Amino acid sequence: MSDRNGDIAVIGAGIVGIACAYYLAKGRASSKIVIIDPRAPMSLTSAASGENYRNWWPHPIMTAFTDYSIDLLEEISREHDSRIHMSRRGYALATREARPEQLLRELQTGYGPEGAPRIRVHEGASAPSYTPPVSADWRDAPEGVDVLQNRHLIRRHFPTFDPEVSTILHIRRAGDISGQQLGSLMLEQIRAKGGILAPARVTEIARQQDGFVVTARGPDGEDKIRAAIVVNAAGPYVADIARMLGESLPVENIFHQKIAFADNLGAIDRRMPFSIDLDGQAIDWTNQERQLIEEDPATAWLARPMPGGIHCRPEGGDLGKWIKLGWAYNRTPSEPRDDLPTDPNFPDIVLRGASRLNPRLKQYYGRLPRQITHYGGYYTMTKENWPLIGPMKTKHAYVAGAMSGFGTMAACATGALCAGWVLGKRPEFAERLSLSRYNDEIFVRQLRESASRGVL
Ligand SMILES: Cc1cc2nc3c(=O)[nH]c(=O)nc-3n(C[C@H](O)[C@H](O)[C@H](O)COP(=O)(O)OP(=O)(O)OC[C@H]3O[C@@H](n4cnc5c(N)ncnc54)[C@H](O)[C@@H]3O)c2cc1C
Repeated sequence: MSDRNGDIAVIGAGIVGIACAYYLAKGRASSKIVIIDPRAPMSLTSAASGENYRNWWPHPIMTAFTDYSIDLLEEISREHDSRIHMSRRGYALATREARPEQLLRELQTGYGPEGAPRIRVHEGASAPSYTPPVSADWRDAPEGVDVLQNRHLIRRHFPTFDPEVSTILHIRRAGDISGQQLGSLMLEQIRAKGGILAPARVTEIARQQDGFVVTARGPDGEDKIRAAIVVNAAGPYVADIARMLGESLPVENIFHQKIAFADNLGAIDRRMPFSIDLDGQAIDWTNQERQLIEEDPATAWLARPMPGGIHCRPEGGDLGKWIKLGWAYNRTPSEPRDDLPTDPNFPDIVLRGASRLNPRLKQYYGRLPRQITHYGGYYTMTKENWPLIGPMKTKHAYVAGAMSGFGTMAACATGALCAGWVLGKRPEFAERLSLSRYNDEIFVRQLRESASRGVL
């Protein structure tokens, strides 16, 4: 048996596994925690994250969950002297619809029955109560949501956006953090409390009377690690670990990509919030390009209508130059692989798509800088796009997964909820985020049938 035996074995050193270990170490000081992962911490999906956060969701439980996570992020930011670079200029959700009734209904539903005072509608050409996102400091930012529904007002505050935009939902408790800093800060604390990292891949888990024997293969060969409790935080491989326990999880993996490059032409205002074009579109190809694209069955889909949700934001602070663009248009699940299937056409596709809301990006058509970063990773999702946090069927085994496109923002709440399940103390909404929600078929069906599942 290994000298790496622990009371708790956390499988996966992405932001979710690390956050689980962090809150478990905080809540149960005497436990020895071992995090098992063959990769460097934070190097798989967590390295591809856009690192954005928001408390805007179409359901009040998801709003409460992310609000809780943002509370914890703010606490960490305060305690560690802003090391996680938490900013808060909000999310600007833009649409050309003047009266987006469905969107506004979802906004009200998402903030719940008590949420009405959090929503401020501005219909006039001036809005004295609207605070533009001048400061990036999360401590200065307003709460709630500003709904801008006047084109003059929108032009004044978002002068570089497509002039056809008629409504902007400016979500104020939203911004970005450094997920990598968050992960390394948590790892330091875990190690300070005696926790260790075991660089090995879990290949088998055997249930024994007093816990588990986890077989893990590392650079020095096979090891047997004993633990009373197992936490499955294996990201895209969460279902594989479940299978080792004889269980199945209702998750699928969908590959998504993003790019980052230096905006040397100054197309994007450094103070622009994380901006999302909600409207579907036909990509802006020239007639000649369109013809070529349509002729090839492999690319013909690019000439058809594309979904909304394309996003853009400045990266690296007010004095930086980089910008990030992303578009979660893929809808086809696939088996996760370590050699990621990044599409060489993606940079051009996302640039063209993002240029609809930010026409100044058109300057980069055909001339994207050579030093472009192109990332990818899997959204590991349930059909309803809610996470799975809590007990598995196997006694003393827990899951923290299906974190889709929200695992960075929700990591702290996920870690705290997982620790809450282990230690017996958790908020009311925890049950709905666990596997036990599937006992309520009507609830799950309603979630799956709702118009929006909050995917961005
Ligand atoms: C393009 C993109 C953009 C995103 N943008 C955002 C965003 O803006 N905001 C946000 O909040 N979220 C975002 N996300 C989502 C976020 O990145 C993920 O939800 C989060 O990183 C998931 O973390 P994780 O720890 O569950 O998974 P991972 O980071 O994938 O970690 C899982 C770990 O488990 C390990 N593992 C797997 N199998 C085994 C095994 N058998 N034995 C041992 N270890 C194993 C892996 O090696 C890996 O290190 C984005 C995701 C993508 C793909």
